Amino acid sequence: MSPDGSARSPRHPAWADVDDASWNDWRWQLRNRVTTLAQLESLIDVTDAERRGITGRHDFSFAVTPYYFSLIGGPDCPVRRQAIPLEDELRAAPGDMRDPLAEDEHRPVSILTHRYPDRALLYVTHNCPVYCRHCTRSRKVGDEASAPARSEFEAAYDYLRRTPAVRDVLVSGGDPLSLSDARLVDIVAQLRAIDSVEIIRLCTRNPVTLPQRITPALVEALRPFAPLFVHTHFNHPTECTPEAARALGLLADGGLVLGNQMVLLRGVNDDADTVATLGRWLLRHRCRPYYMFQCDPVQGTGHLRTPIRTGLQILDQLRGRVSGLAIPQYAVDLPGGGGKVTLVPDRAVSHEGPRRVFRDASGELFTYVDAAD
Ligand code: SF4
Repeated sequence: MSPDGSARSPRHPAWADVDDASWNDWRWQLRNRVTTLAQLESLIDVTDAERRGITGRHDFSFAVTPYYFSLIGGPDCPVRRQAIPLEDELRAAPGDMRDPLAEDEHRPVSILTHRYPDRALLYVTHNCPVYCRHCTRSRKVGDEASAPARSEFEAAYDYLRRTPAVRDVLVSGGDPLSLSDARLVDIVAQLRAIDSVEIIRLCTRNPVTLPQRITPALVEALRPFAPLFVHTHFNHPTECTPEAARALGLLADGGLVLGNQMVLLRGVNDDADTVATLGRWLLRHRCRPYYMFQCDPVQGTGHLRTPIRTGLQILDQLRGRVSGLAIPQYAVDLPGGGGKVTLVPDRAVSHEGPRRVFRDASGELFTYVDAAD
């Protein structure tokens, strides 16, 4: 509990004496991130695999906020596995690609990816509070050289004005909530001023890695631009803290529509109990489990990827056990820019004439007599 009686998650002893005002200040959290091996060694028992991962990986930054770091446990901890590099990142795996979704190939302007007729993705920053080890854009996030310039924003807005087929813009990065309130609001306002843009989505992991970033001031500043959709990225129940719950509550109270995009990761969330627990918590906090993504085959993630069979088994075990509202769509984003395919477990057993036989969650068989053509 904090001194004012509100619930809070435990802090690592290194930050036990930090006053609450500093701890709850998102800028303090960013200034005090763990970014070096020396810092890490002073905080936890670093494994050899982690040490080799940190010293060997030069193309993708490592940074963890004190808040998210305080959730870390032993070497197999699901939060640790997402935040601390492992030596496995240095090994190539079959299917690895640098830009698996071919985002860079489909850029009419430097910071805008336009792959599908009605949707576009706007890359607004290279910064994130935590650099997730499974990030699809590890080729550019954390890299100063990929920071967008003002002139690039103007070119992107101009393209969207000239391309009314784009009705849905995903504001992404990096994490758009790494920007100041004023900068973020300016981007949203520019998009909202384009008549053909109907849907604006903010893709952010801040509610997970830096929930202090969700302030009443930010929510009030965004409120006039409704409808605004927020895609969060919770992957494990350990991330479901009182601080994260408060962040989701603020966003939902501010009229933002919340959905979660989980990435299926080996040793993190690759079992039905974990996905069910996460889904129930999200729903209780007004965030709909939207997608369970197959991990993209991005370089350095071979050790985190699961077989597609695992995702199908998880869905099969969830169906009938938890509310359908808590079950995300299982999607594979096709390498090379083919778009998403959603997969479902096959419950059809046989059919003869109009009689179709299906199995339920327990394996019991049921017959449905189909309508005539
Ligand atoms: S917050 Fe998103 S963009 Fe940033 S490192 Fe994590 S997955 Fe990548």
